[in-house]
Amino acid sequence: MAGGEDAAGLVDKHDTSIDLATWHLGIKTRPARVVIPKDLSEVIAAVRDEETYPSPLIAVGAMHSVTRCVEANQGTVLYMTGFNRIIGLAGAFDSDVQVVRAEAGVTMAALHAWLLARQRELSFSPEIGDATVGGLVTTMCKDSSVNGPGHLCALVEALTYVDHEGNVVRLSREKDEDALEHYMCSYSTQGITLDATLRCRPAALIRTRFHSLMVGNSRKLAERMLKLRAACDNVWAVITLDGCYLEQRWAAPGRTLHRTSPRLFLAIMRRIRYELILVAAVPKMVLWGTWGWLPDLYHHRSLLVNTYPAVTAQQARLDFSYYEYSDISRFAEVVEGALRFARDFKRDTGFAPSGFGCYFVKREGARAKLLAGAYSGSEGWSFVMDPLCPDPIDPRWLAYCRAFTPWAIARGARTSLTQTKELLPGQYALDSRYVRPRFLTPYYAQFVTEVKPGAEAAIRSPDRICYTAAAQ
Ligand SMILES: Cc1cc2nc3c(=O)[nH]c(=O)nc-3n(C[C@H](O)[C@H](O)[C@H](O)COP(=O)(O)OP(=O)(O)OC[C@H]3O[C@@H](n4cnc5c(N)ncnc54)[C@H](O)[C@@H]3O)c2cc1C
Repeated sequence: MAGGEDAAGLVDKHDTSIDLATWHLGIKTRPARVVIPKDLSEVIAAVRDEETYPSPLIAVGAMHSVTRCVEANQGTVLYMTGFNRIIGLAGAFDSDVQVVRAEAGVTMAALHAWLLARQRELSFSPEIGDATVGGLVTTMCKDSSVNGPGHLCALVEALTYVDHEGNVVRLSREKDEDALEHYMCSYSTQGITLDATLRCRPAALIRTRFHSLMVGNSRKLAERMLKLRAACDNVWAVITLDGCYLEQRWAAPGRTLHRTSPRLFLAIMRRIRYELILVAAVPKMVLWGTWGWLPDLYHHRSLLVNTYPAVTAQQARLDFSYYEYSDISRFAEVVEGALRFARDFKRDTGFAPSGFGCYFVKREGARAKLLAGAYSGSEGWSFVMDPLCPDPIDPRWLAYCRAFTPWAIARGARTSLTQTKELLPGQYALDSRYVRPRFLTPYYAQFVTEVKPGAEAAIRSPDRICYTAAAQ
């Protein structure tokens, strides 16, 4: 890419022959301008100057998302890597509630490490360290968190963004809670996120126990998983057609931070989990032979979380498609049905996903009271069951996602514009009230839906709590 200083002083790169790609190389885009803003004034200048920085104008973080959400063909991409400062902590140190303010380009791994060095943590620690604060608070995410909400937006106390006219807007939970929630559900179509202020708490260790379970009868497997979940603080699992790898997680109150399991052992386990998540078609021997013998591990959550460095097209690259079910009483039905769907698909086409990533996500706080995308509608627990594939461009995988989405929606699943593959119009509804044309890409435009007045209040019953339902 050619680079240089232009009239506005922006460090920009513009060469229409260069494609940008997501981390897993599955989605490519060819913007007219790629800009790495150094500071706020450069973001504002880019937003205001549509002639030099054509629409659609979007920001990106680490480009670790898995859908066309990062496409801005002929438009402008702002790479937020320069916004990588952790501005600081606020609140009394001995208080249970403090906040940390971090810029949009800060990765979760960097934020967790910074907080841990200060004996603080976020309750949210997803299975990916590379995702950025901006990429997560402006969209959605999921984590089998221990004693806390399983999505980052629930921890946001305030947020700063640049709107479509180049104004800097600061929203706080205290003063503008609804506006804040709707901004975070707008999938970046309302502004460029600059920073977020996140609730944190004293850091603590957790205890993790590893299990391998036979799949055999899938309903029985689901019931066993629920029993294991009831006996701990949360569970995370990868279910394959042959077996299930499951982690039970407990808070370990009172255990001081330095009393972790040996670091080398943690590093080995992190590597094994990396392969497990990336490839998921875990050799059966590994599943059956090893896990049951492992001792419980004591560790900080972030110490088992992976980062995913650059890959080549020859390597396995994790891809997945997200489905959130807000009615946990349907867990056994969904596990059984999804495995049957995968087996039938394999019988008909020779292809099956390599597994399903399974999360339990706590819905609470303001979002739960709204009708506003993921984790809204009512307080409680959602489960997420994402089919996985190690090759994001395998056409049979993409066909699988297209076939599976209607099946999942029919069973109450909610989808995501950044995490559900191959979505069609009608399978997600982006509320037209919050969308600004300056930031609207053709991908997102397909989903813009007018939410009828009163629709939000009318559809708060547990099985009709998604925008998708509102749109139909
Ligand atoms: C191997 C792997 C494992 C994963 N595991 C998990 C997991 O356990 N839990 C989970 O929730 N997710 C997981 N993900 C998905 C990933 O965390 C999300 O897609 C996340 O959004 C990626 O963050 P990012 O910074 O790379 O965002 P990007 O991909 O760069 O951007 C995502 C979206 O956010 C927008 N955006 C980014 N920054 C800004 C900003 N500053 N202002 C406005 N809009 C912005 C972009 O325009 C785009 O629409 C995983 C992904 C991979 C590849």
